[in-house]
Amino acid sequence: MRATKAYINLDNLRENIACVKSFIKEDVKMCIAVKADGYGHGAARTAIAAIQAGASVLAVASVQEGIELREAGIVAPILTLSLPLKEEIPSIIVHSITPLVFDEEFIEQVNEVAESMHRRVPVYLKIDTGMGRVGCRPEKAGELAEKISTSNGLYLEGCITHFAVSDSVAPENMEYTAFQVANFNKAIAQIKEKGIDPGICSASSSGGIFLHPEAHFDMVRPGIVVYGYYPDPALKEVLALKRGESVVLKPVMEVVTHVVAIKHFYKGESISYGRTWVAEEDCDVAVLPIGYADGLVRKLSPGLTVTIDGKQYPVVGRICMDQCMVCLGSKHNVKRWDKVTVFGYEEGCKTADDLAAAAGTISYEILCGINKRVPRVFIDNEKNY
Ligand SMILES: *Cc1c(COP(=O)(O)O)cnc(C)c1O
Repeated sequence: MRATKAYINLDNLRENIACVKSFIKEDVKMCIAVKADGYGHGAARTAIAAIQAGASVLAVASVQEGIELREAGIVAPILTLSLPLKEEIPSIIVHSITPLVFDEEFIEQVNEVAESMHRRVPVYLKIDTGMGRVGCRPEKAGELAEKISTSNGLYLEGCITHFAVSDSVAPENMEYTAFQVANFNKAIAQIKEKGIDPGICSASSSGGIFLHPEAHFDMVRPGIVVYGYYPDPALKEVLALKRGESVVLKPVMEVVTHVVAIKHFYKGESISYGRTWVAEEDCDVAVLPIGYADGLVRKLSPGLTVTIDGKQYPVVGRICMDQCMVCLGSKHNVKRWDKVTVFGYEEGCKTADDLAAAAGTISYEILCGINKRVPRVFIDNEKNY
């Protein structure tokens, strides 16, 4: 087993889903986003644990991701949130993956393939209420819903929209989300006016779940919160104020490595590419077998500290592709082979939010950036499948 690994704590994941549940009404469904290999946590195991915890639908980005879940034996409905190529339509249907549609051309193409396979397949109508990504204009929703429900090969399973700023309580952002909700409601009303059942309506991702109960509709789509992080770290305080108690989310991923060597450096000697770090005094340095190819982005140096036996030590010199170095100072108790926590859920260690802040990004990118070559080790005290 490699020194560098990612522990994936599925007990924490189930607790995070229980937290989501405490924010929604009992009859609201949960569609868990497991795209990008479950935000880097391993899509299949994450999906199975999510279903155990009450999720009824899964969301992926690519068709391939959906197929991987099917091959893992998952039978729950799977939505593809991104747009496939025309050539992928047959495999969408073969694997019972539910596509999003929002224009005449694609509706016709999916219908044609479905008809040729003698199938009637569910689709979600994606409505762009202000995200500016995929989706039809709200005023086109009625017409497109009609096109879907009069096609022999399709039926309208539901309607979906996505928010751009639902994780922010800034007044202009609250207002913008309200505008998006109003657009969505108008589109749904238009579909109903045509005598068509809009099916399962869904708008909220993690931000909307916490801040916009009026936008939960029939199904919420939590992603990052399931993995133990707020969509914006500032939400932690916001929610504590709103609720009068803090909402406890538990990081699911813990990235660890081990000290594979300790070397002594004399004052004035430099470390790593570019010689950006020079020892100001004699010190010991630990070599860690983790680098940017594992997802430890180069921008984290200088600035990143790692945890060894409860103490923080700075990464010094540039992070390399497969390795990095950590200054232990002159007095320390670190030994070769000691465990090093890069980030995770362990008391006192860094979180993906800390790394994200240091690298100028968001926890999402840190988590799904942990490369495939880092083995995932699952912790699951409810191994009941
Ligand atoms: C990724 C995604 C989600 C989940 O978003 P989080 O912010 O991680 O909760 C929900 N809906 C859509 C359409 C998405 O692309």
